[in-house]
Amino acid sequence: MRRNMTKIKKSCRDKKRYASREAATRRAIELNRKGVRVKPYQCPACGGWHMTHRSPMAVLNEAFIEVGMGPVYV
Ligand SMILES: [Zn+2]
Repeated sequence: MRRNMTKIKKSCRDKKRYASREAATRRAIELNRKGVRVKPYQCPACGGWHMTHRSPMAVLNEAFIEVGMGPVYV
């Protein structure tokens, strides 16, 4: 079953995408040093990495909802 790229949600397309965990983590550390509390997470919709201001649980739920599997955590 192939994933249709046009199905990627707006919330995903509008976010800055990082190609690797390393790139996303480096940027997150940089931002956290400036007092911006963000966390990198891998997006199940596009396979890339995004940054979020929210809790890891909220991020996971958003990711699962995006692929029609969630919410998983309450
Ligand atoms: Zn994405």
